[in-house]
Amino acid sequence: MTFEDFNFDSSLAEGLQAMGYVTPTPIQAEAIPVVMQGHDLIACAQTGTGKTASYLLPVLHSIAGTNKHHTDTLILAPTRELAQQIDQQVEGLAYFTGISSIAVFGGGDGIVYEQQRSAIKAGVNILIATPGRLIAHLTSGLLKLDKVRHLVLDEADRMLDMGFYDDIIRIIRHLPAKRQTLLFSATMPPRIRQLAATILHEPQQINI
Ligand code: AMP
Repeated sequence: MTFEDFNFDSSLAEGLQAMGYVTPTPIQAEAIPVVMQGHDLIACAQTGTGKTASYLLPVLHSIAGTNKHHTDTLILAPTRELAQQIDQQVEGLAYFTGISSIAVFGGGDGIVYEQQRSAIKAGVNILIATPGRLIAHLTSGLLKLDKVRHLVLDEADRMLDMGFYDDIIRIIRHLPAKRQTLLFSATMPPRIRQLAATILHEPQQINI
């Protein structure tokens, strides 16, 4: 199998080629068709398996053909480092698509916060955020998430370990009920199952 089998939008296929990705990893081979069909997904996968591209590629494909003026996809991540890594993969894969992204995380000084505010104000297609900082931008009233079609929780177990359960639920109240939700976690303790039961709709399950 190669990435050509997925028939991605040509601008996305160009990005894949530029990144040097030819063969899908096992999680990509399993998850990409499920996400392209529009299902919710709960995936047990470690870092290093290619899990990021397994949700980014189908999401980018679905945005590539649309007019890109609003925030279509929200990706929640536990740490600044992971949010930045995800953003770098978006920038590489989406390079030829015209899709915009930003990583929003806590810390930094007031200048960082203002830079995040102006990027949000200008409009961004894919927003990658740590939960606490996202709440701050939501509370300020600037950020609207009412047109989000895809929600991704990356490293969900770490987000719960860091005490973000209530923030996640609060953020989800700002999203449309009709959306696709994708949950990735390295471990599947009962708390993750409970979160999945609360926020996913008839999910498909993948274990790598
Ligand atoms: P991840 O598990 O998502 O953190 O990805 C691990 C690393 O593998 C990242 O540096 C990706 O850029 C790279 N990667 C992901 N998918 C592929 C692929 N199909 N072919 C080659 N490299 C990949």
